[in-house]
Amino acid sequence: MAQIDTLIDRVRSYDPDANMEEIRAAYVFAEEAHRGQKRASGEPYITHPLAAAEILVKMKLPPVIIEASLLHDVPEDTNRTLDEIRTQFGDEVAKLVGGITKLGKIKYRGMERYIENLRKMFLAISEDVRVVIIKFADRLHNLETLDVLPPKKQYRIALESLEIYAPIANRLGMGEMKGRLEDAAFRYVLPKEYEWTQNLVQNTLTRREGYLERIMTQTRKDLQELDLSIVDVHGRTKHLYSLYKKLLKNDRNISRVYDIIATRVIVPTVADCYAALGVIHGRWTPLKGRIKDYIAQPKPNGYRSLHTTVFCEDGEIVEFQIRTTKMHHDAEFGIVSHWSYDEQKGKRLYNGSTPKIDWVGQLAETQKELSNKKKYLRSLEEIKIDIFNDRIFVFTPQGDVLDLPEDSTPVDVAYAVHTDVGNTCASAKVNNEIAPLDRMLRSGDVVEIITDRNRKGPNPNWLSSAKTRHARAKIRQFARASLTSWIKGVIPGKIRKK
Ligand code: MN
Repeated sequence: MAQIDTLIDRVRSYDPDANMEEIRAAYVFAEEAHRGQKRASGEPYITHPLAAAEILVKMKLPPVIIEASLLHDVPEDTNRTLDEIRTQFGDEVAKLVGGITKLGKIKYRGMERYIENLRKMFLAISEDVRVVIIKFADRLHNLETLDVLPPKKQYRIALESLEIYAPIANRLGMGEMKGRLEDAAFRYVLPKEYEWTQNLVQNTLTRREGYLERIMTQTRKDLQELDLSIVDVHGRTKHLYSLYKKLLKNDRNISRVYDIIATRVIVPTVADCYAALGVIHGRWTPLKGRIKDYIAQPKPNGYRSLHTTVFCEDGEIVEFQIRTTKMHHDAEFGIVSHWSYDEQKGKRLYNGSTPKIDWVGQLAETQKELSNKKKYLRSLEEIKIDIFNDRIFVFTPQGDVLDLPEDSTPVDVAYAVHTDVGNTCASAKVNNEIAPLDRMLRSGDVVEIITDRNRKGPNPNWLSSAKTRHARAKIRQFARASLTSWIKGVIPGKIRKK
């Protein structure tokens, strides 16, 4: 019972009011149900739900989630039923366990499997996002113990994690979970690339560690001299897979990636963040165009921080990330921070309801389309771009913010504003200058759409540059409609008889 004791001690440390006996009961229930079962590694099966629960305890999550994670494989893999879990642990725990069980078995192969997986994840998110969070912990532990499985299965599970789990974690703002899922999967999906990236990081660490230590000491000193209180100044190494992707974008040239190791400055308040930025810019010269204010303009997944890249001593380039304790916590845990224990207030932020997430509505829409497989296959790439790719935000001249996929164009903006605006869109101004309708937009652009009431409809060529599923669907729809009316005009009798 040693491990469950440690787990309960940890829960007690962040949530003294939690019902420890019930957590222990969930463990005992699961342990008895799985007794005699072994993991592929030969270990008793209970080590797996226990490890999943530990991941969630580190995120300081409430007891219901911890209990559900301990019980997550019981209905699927043992003789005990969901009803028994409901009787003993109540509706909420049973609902979560039931949700995870539904996510469990997917029989299809290849593309069908991918679709079914996505569909179930989206459905789970719109019903109760906590289910997906337990699923992440489950998957993360499975990835970390993948070595004992046959290579084909390793590859399948790892790829699925990279293509489905990590992007969803990212959209939920769970930076730490996304990074861990990706890194655990990376070595099985692209083993050679994994090793290459890991070596690069090792070399950089060896070469720069001492240097960055000095920069951090200097930063602490500068901040203290201005009486700015510091919560923490530390170095953070970029997660391997996100570094790898960045390297690919930069011709594999490591000298062009400045944030392999970044310096993180954590301060108490937002005002302190800007003050700290001023102090850093006072000592070192910032690189032009590399100051990012994600506090004034948070990323669509909620990420907030100030980023700046500066020339430090000896011409070395260093990235600083400045944020408050709250922002730091949110960046690591994302949506989960809604349920984390708030130590300052001495209470849980969680009040029983699921926090509202803007794009869950969008997912619900996607969900409907997923039921039509044929249609879905056709729009799969667009859905992936809409939901998973990096996002930008652009502004209308009225100051409204639009959240769009990377490389969106003025046409996407026009359709995001209104279908009529899209259909009658004639030209665009980006930051007050006339710009082509296929211009790739950047975050922060102010986009004004100029419409022409006499315009008959969208130009089919826009399909080659428009990025959002919404805009593309509307352009196609219009093209189809006008084709039908053209046919009606040419052979009126035939159509009208119908
Ligand atoms: Mn499991």
